[in-house]
Amino acid sequence: MTKSKIQNDDLLIGAHESIAGGIYKAFELAESIGCRTLQVFTKSSNQWAAKPLTEEDIENYKTVSSKSNIKHVVAHDSYLINLCAANPEILKKSREAFLDELKRCEALGIKYLNFHPGAHMGAGEDDGIKLIIESLDRAHEQSKKFKVLSVLETTAGQGSSLGYRFEQLRKIIDGVAEPKRMAVCIDTCHIFAAGYDISTDDGYEKVMKEFDDVIGFDRLVAFHVNDSKKGLGSKVDRHEHIGKGMIGKNGFKCLMQDPRLAAIPKILETPKGEDLKEDKMNLSVLRKLAVAK
Ligand code: FE
Ligand code: FE
Ligand code: ZN
Repeated sequence: MTKSKIQNDDLLIGAHESIAGGIYKAFELAESIGCRTLQVFTKSSNQWAAKPLTEEDIENYKTVSSKSNIKHVVAHDSYLINLCAANPEILKKSREAFLDELKRCEALGIKYLNFHPGAHMGAGEDDGIKLIIESLDRAHEQSKKFKVLSVLETTAGQGSSLGYRFEQLRKIIDGVAEPKRMAVCIDTCHIFAAGYDISTDDGYEKVMKEFDDVIGFDRLVAFHVNDSKKGLGSKVDRHEHIGKGMIGKNGFKCLMQDPRLAAIPKILETPKGEDLKEDKMNLSVLRKLAVAK
């Protein structure tokens, strides 16, 4: 596809939306602001336990999603899950919760479960990566034949979080028994805070080439499009509205006009209030940048 052929209506852009009142409700919110893609939690993001999905929940979701023009849905796992937790009790809970998240996605027909690789809490990066691999192998072993992919999200590297270098994600993908279960999501705020400069034309090209060399675009299934409140390499994860942070409009213009990545869903995780006016504003900025000179 050439740049001029990227039509504004076709842009695969959307946002993370609330599931208050039922997961299917997120579709109504997303459609009301013109999203073509959507991210949801399939349960409360800051609790371990979740009520199992009922037949009715699943039916409702399937009815609404099949009628929706939003065909790309990503689930984000709970923030409590740490697949390389140093504390054995937390590790056990995390592994159970991760498997449960895979099951929820599979039941709903969601193809992508986005998760943060994990934080090693002082155990060291190599041991952390080993534990993440073991956790994923256990989860995949217990969910044989599932269609949902485990999607590693790039991180800012805050604290002891792993996944702030593309090489770390590569090690995890290479280490697991079933690499075909693995995919990757690039969070623009996170990679920038981790030190990947996508704010300039040259920087953007270099970073994307590096991603393609180390991981490969064929593994890339989503972007989280967030500007960054903090500077390049700050390792601090604070999302900002598109164009108003340290990445700035040019970085997002490069992304929105990159024909190699036009078919990859781009999902906002930027701050917002209940009326979603900030989402509307950020979506409109992305649309403008897609055709900006
Ligand atoms: Fe995330
Ligand atoms: Fe993210
Ligand atoms: Zn973040």
